[in-house]
Amino acid sequence: MSHQTFWKPEKKPRQKKAYSSLGQRKKDKKPVPEWKKDILSHHQSRPNTKERGEFPKDVIAELIADSNGICECCKAAEATTTHHVYPRGRKGRGVKTNGLRLCWPCHDRIQINEELLQFWISAFRDKYGDYFWFDEQDWEEHNRKLAARQRVEFDKNERLNSIKPVIELITSAAGRTLKAREVRLLEAMDDKEMLVFTNMISDALNNFSKPAPSYGYGERFED
Ligand SMILES: [Zn+2]
Ligand SMILES: [Zn+2]
Repeated sequence: MSHQTFWKPEKKPRQKKAYSSLGQRKKDKKPVPEWKKDILSHHQSRPNTKERGEFPKDVIAELIADSNGICECCKAAEATTTHHVYPRGRKGRGVKTNGLRLCWPCHDRIQINEELLQFWISAFRDKYGDYFWFDEQDWEEHNRKLAARQRVEFDKNERLNSIKPVIELITSAAGRTLKAREVRLLEAMDDKEMLVFTNMISDALNNFSKPAPSYGYGERFED
């Protein structure tokens, strides 16, 4: 009987790759020369948490123009302040989609009333989507984490697909589905161990399905 291979190691072992926030592969960067570092560090310095919570003047100007200078809550009084719909204390940023122009009395009411605060949060979520208070940096981090999670999931699925024939073989031979801890055991094997294991199992099964060999001479009648 021909020797059947149920499992083959992957041809190319996957290497760890660096991904950008969009999940694309990053190119290797040239090292930055010492003299350039000071200049670059100045340009690359990112705003701190306090700065990220502040509404820039041009954003405030846009919000005033959009609301005609009127309080967006009572729609009567003149607006005097820009409120963070998602509070700064909860990392709401100074972005246009998180800004609400209010008069002081309306602002004071919202500040002390969690229900009212939540009303505006859900209204802005409907209008601008989840994470309406995110700035660019928040989105970068969010996408980076998402890409990392997807990568882990992808690797796990790839591994599971590669051991699928082994699982099917043992399942049919055992006449039952494999237990979770048995699947985990197979998943934990590296390529070499898997090769040894599958060769052993397939030899055992091939031999088991053959009729018992006859060792004696003339004891069995062959026709
Ligand atoms: Zn008002
Ligand atoms: Zn406020």
